[in-house]
Amino acid sequence: MQEYREDLSPSPESNLNKTFKILLIAAATFIVAVLLSPMPRFKAGESTVVEARDGSLLGARIADDGQWRFPGNDTIPEKFEKALLTFEDKYFYWHPGINPVSVARAMGDNIRAGEIVSGGSTITMQVARIARGNRPRTYPEKIVEMLSALKLELFRSKKEILKMYVANAPFGGNIVGLEAAAWRYTGKSSEGITWAEAAALAVLPNSPALVFPGKNQGILKSRRDDLLRKLYERELFDSLTLVLAIDESLPGEPRPLPVLAPHLTDFFFSNNKGKMIRTTIDPVLQERALEIVNAHQKLLSGNFINNTACLIVKVKTGEVLAYVGNGAFGHAAEHGGDVDIIRARRSTGSILKPLLYAGMQYSGDILPNTLVADVPTRFPGFSPKNFDFSYSGGVPASRALSQSLNIPAVKMLQKYTPDRFLNLLQKAGFTSFDKNAYHYGLSLILGGGEVSLWELTGVYASLSRVLNNYLDEKKYFTGDYHPPLLVLRNENEKERKEDSAPILNASSIWLTYDALLKVNRPEGEAGWQYFSSSRDFAWKTGTSFGFRDAWAIGTTPEYVIGVWAGNADGEGRPGLTGISSAAPILFDLVNILEPAGWFKEPMEEMTMIRVCSLSGYRAGPDCPDTEETPSCISGLRSEMCPYHKIIHLDKTGTRQVTADCVSPAEIMNESWFVLPPAMEYFYRQKHPGYKVVPPMAKGCIAEKGIPVMEFIYPTPGVRIFIPRDQTGLLTRVISEVVHRNPAKKIFWHLDNKYIATTKHIHQIEIMAEAGEHLLTVVDEDGNSMKCTFIITGKNENQE
Ligand SMILES: [Zn+2]
Repeated sequence: MQEYREDLSPSPESNLNKTFKILLIAAATFIVAVLLSPMPRFKAGESTVVEARDGSLLGARIADDGQWRFPGNDTIPEKFEKALLTFEDKYFYWHPGINPVSVARAMGDNIRAGEIVSGGSTITMQVARIARGNRPRTYPEKIVEMLSALKLELFRSKKEILKMYVANAPFGGNIVGLEAAAWRYTGKSSEGITWAEAAALAVLPNSPALVFPGKNQGILKSRRDDLLRKLYERELFDSLTLVLAIDESLPGEPRPLPVLAPHLTDFFFSNNKGKMIRTTIDPVLQERALEIVNAHQKLLSGNFINNTACLIVKVKTGEVLAYVGNGAFGHAAEHGGDVDIIRARRSTGSILKPLLYAGMQYSGDILPNTLVADVPTRFPGFSPKNFDFSYSGGVPASRALSQSLNIPAVKMLQKYTPDRFLNLLQKAGFTSFDKNAYHYGLSLILGGGEVSLWELTGVYASLSRVLNNYLDEKKYFTGDYHPPLLVLRNENEKERKEDSAPILNASSIWLTYDALLKVNRPEGEAGWQYFSSSRDFAWKTGTSFGFRDAWAIGTTPEYVIGVWAGNADGEGRPGLTGISSAAPILFDLVNILEPAGWFKEPMEEMTMIRVCSLSGYRAGPDCPDTEETPSCISGLRSEMCPYHKIIHLDKTGTRQVTADCVSPAEIMNESWFVLPPAMEYFYRQKHPGYKVVPPMAKGCIAEKGIPVMEFIYPTPGVRIFIPRDQTGLLTRVISEVVHRNPAKKIFWHLDNKYIATTKHIHQIEIMAEAGEHLLTVVDEDGNSMKCTFIITGKNENQE
């Protein structure tokens, strides 16, 4: 029985067991509660922050919820951490998320006050509270916060918890997190804040309203100064620092964020929303470029030219150093100031001509000074004109380039073909030509296609890079052609594959830059002499049809600058030309860059070619005056001078004869510079030394070989679409012929029927139905010339 009784009374051992069980259950419940408690997370989107290459702020866009919340920094500034922990949570690194001493003290305070006046919150608990959206302080809420804090401590490091706090603490108004607070209250990154600033910012999250000016400022100051004294007592700085820190003014109204590259900021807002982007922008250059563009924009606005843009790219790496998307930003939203012109596709005008010149040097189609025809030229539906509407007859290719003559450019493209040129442009990096060569035709060289300033500047930078790299390494690399870079690229990502078939070679690029360097070009504008730079600087301007787009692009061995001026809505303005509107900006920009010398000549790839002094072609056996000129090696295959011909003269040298009318002993053979009739007509006017071939002696009949007339339009074999007017009748074609001697009468025949006679100006209107036609012209001396052309019933160009 005794044993039985003993069994009824709990033994000390089983008591212990029960307590242990209760404790175990309590512990298990507690662990489950901690594990089930919400894990603090921050899901709200962040602001888009765009930094310059040195980490300074270029601009930012607010997060979707209307808060200035900068993407998290990887490091917490030491001054801020010390100030924050001293103020909020001295034992942060020792407690498990809850500080029992603080909690006990807070409970006492709260019981005495009859409501929650003190939270006894650790940083970890505050993280939990902020993550839960700062709900009203109640006991159940407090318990959830504590459990969440414990859970957070269980799964996250102290540093991670501190980072969560620093990134998400409220700093008054819509400013969230230290980084946004530092920029808006101190105008700089948190890395650069002072002790006084760190202390003021550490105080704010606990009572963010203190930042607003007024009587609160007194409270903020006393709290900040108390904290500074505590930090001084902890020997974090000396007494002088304390005195100076207490003297520092308090943060006031939030400052506006910098707006140094608004269009770039917009670009990243669209493409990398909520990220912090460290760009390649040089903040000093960016600011100066912005000033220059804005100053010019002000002047241009007087002529209702409302938008300007510029891009500066470093040749070596392709890094963008300055990005001014639109000079009108902020001042003229109604004038499209928010449009990022750098990315907009616009008609090229003449700005692609250097690429054609380079392509033709590389292929050996022309030599640097090959004479190119500059005469009235017409194609079906397309009639190019020089800027000043004049004709020079013939002009060296290099001068045609530097003076930006349109007709020679079209003649050159006709020889090179739009197909090859389009291929060259696409390979060089232009992606905006999305139609085939047939669509653009010869107008491609005069602005028939569109490019963006971004791609244009990128392509010129690629060309300069190819030349530099060749000069350094005597090799070509496929990776040298690439678009500009806005974000620093990892060196390992660079493509360094040797390129055995470069798009353009170094010598063709050098010759092109040389042509752009030597001569100033008026492009029909007086006042171009204004631009003088002591720098070696190859530059080219472009003006699109209807004065809609003014372009200027320039390169040194180190930098490429692209400039555009015009109206974002495409409205043309009289006087809007590359030379008058874009070039002045280009020259102001080149002056803020460090001088970079000039490209060396790529000698290994060049050769001296003997050329005809008059025609610039490779010298033929009949060319009397020749000289040597540096050229691409492929130029050795270029055409021989076609203009020097041996003619037969009588003893006086004033009449042409043939072996049929005088005895061979009476004949003098002489080499004569004979241009085709149309070229001759205009060339003579500018070159008084040009001698026309002497007339035939009486009784002698001209040999074939030197034509006296030339069709300007139609040209043999051309297909012409003649539209019908409103009444359904066919409109007319204007036909034109040039005679070496304009005074001669010309008789016109269409399909062997006489239609007209002309003198001096040999132009007539002809009208014909669809089908093949024969046009015959005969001059009063009996010389004749025929041309077959086809009139089509539909517009083939619109297919
Ligand atoms: Zn010659």
